[in-house]
Amino acid sequence: MKVIAVLNQKGGSGKTTIATHLARALQIGGADVLLVDSDPQGSARDWAAVREDQPVPVVGIDRPTIERDLKSLVRKDFVVIDGAPQAADLAVSAIKAAHFILIPVQPSPYDIWATADLVDLVKQRIEVTDGKLKAAFIVSRAIKGTKISAEIAEALSGYDLPVLESRITQRVSYPSTAAAGTTVNDADPDGDAAREVLALANEIKRLLI
Ligand code: ADP
Ligand code: MG
Repeated sequence: MKVIAVLNQKGGSGKTTIATHLARALQIGGADVLLVDSDPQGSARDWAAVREDQPVPVVGIDRPTIERDLKSLVRKDFVVIDGAPQAADLAVSAIKAAHFILIPVQPSPYDIWATADLVDLVKQRIEVTDGKLKAAFIVSRAIKGTKISAEIAEALSGYDLPVLESRITQRVSYPSTAAAGTTVNDADPDGDAAREVLALANEIKRLLI
């Protein structure tokens, strides 16, 4: 079982969008997946509840017991944790449970600066686990045709964590499919949005081997 935690204290960075899509993309790829909503606000649970025939199983664990709860409760191929904003104890609990930490950052310097504390926590954990824990940034809500995304990748290199090659673009299809409790991969499986999500899932799978 591999646990992927999508974390960033900053609200609006795209955690829930990426966590729901990543979970669904891994499932479409044939894996047995659980999505854990660690945000007390419950956005991923709200998303799942829209559809009666929701294919992605979602549970809420919004107490700092994620590591323990997953160990005793779940046997899945992948668990994707949708991170909570501004809850240090929940973030620590998710980091402890994770094999891979995905940090979505919007292409803005404010968002990059705001990840400093999280990066410190993640790096401490990487050291404790002798490098077994992996972590990477993903540029989230990138605006197509702008150079800022490339500049952001460069600015992030100061943090000494890799930046994934795949990125998630700002597209109306993300919020509009979310409103229906579904994903861009369900709405248009061959479209550009679905393709960038599958590229993300595949890149993470490769890095987890
Ligand atoms: P977080 O979970 O980090 O707070 P969300 O995934 O909820 O972030 O995203 C915040 C808002 O931005 C939501 O309204 C969401 O629909 C929108 N959003 C997130 N990612 C994208 C994207 N790639 N394109 C367009 N809108 C997005
Ligand atoms: Mg969220």
